[in-house]
Amino acid sequence: MQVLSFIISIFSGIIASTIMETQKGHTHPVTHIINDIARPLIEMGFEVAAGPEMETEQYNFDILNVPRDHPSRDMQDTFWVKGLKETVLRTQTSAVQGRYMETKKPPFKIIVPGRVFRNEATDATHDFQFHQVEGLVVGEDVTMAHLKGTLNHYLRKLYGDDVQTQFRPGFFPFVEPGVEIDMVCFKCGGDGCPTCKQSGWIEILGAGMVHPNVLNAAGIDATRYQGFAFGTGVERLAMLKYGITDIRLMSSGDLRLVNQF
Ligand SMILES: [Zn+2]
Repeated sequence: MQVLSFIISIFSGIIASTIMETQKGHTHPVTHIINDIARPLIEMGFEVAAGPEMETEQYNFDILNVPRDHPSRDMQDTFWVKGLKETVLRTQTSAVQGRYMETKKPPFKIIVPGRVFRNEATDATHDFQFHQVEGLVVGEDVTMAHLKGTLNHYLRKLYGDDVQTQFRPGFFPFVEPGVEIDMVCFKCGGDGCPTCKQSGWIEILGAGMVHPNVLNAAGIDATRYQGFAFGTGVERLAMLKYGITDIRLMSSGDLRLVNQF
């Protein structure tokens, strides 16, 4: 009798663990990275904002100081929605900036994680959909020093106290001045390797002071308020961190990828 109950308990254990295993889910690597990126910023007082993935030309381009004849509006880069006038699949999470600023009074600091779309040929490093995390800070007397201090503090929280960064001039229509921020390659420590294309640096963020045209277009008085914005591509960071070699795997739904996380 004892043997029988022992056997039954083994079988019920196997059945229970089988049920447990089939029910166990996995977090997608993109979700992992978004959580990693967002956590230190939320601790620093940033609120999470969101907006629609199908967006008007006004919020995706006009309000962000992207001129009507700018090449990024071309059919090559943008998915236009058939049958809906001036409607696109958003090409950047910056589209949420205008929506947020129109309804909120400064000061505020927000982050916007989300999916974006580009109408371009796909290969191992380009996909027609990917994710960005955008940050926006607006208040009185906000300067480039705040941008630099905030982002350096953030990168130290994310990658450790000894992270080294460099700020280079960069161009984005919705900021002036614009900067690109690199950190010393985490693989080789700056010596040069295939991951950093032998440069010793990895580009990690695009950023800049919010262009006065953007503030004014969203109804915020640019003579009184200033701000800075920053953004990063999620899949690229996930590929670097986890050694994933093809960006298209991220949205393939292939469980062999997801089950590794
Ligand atoms: Zn390297």
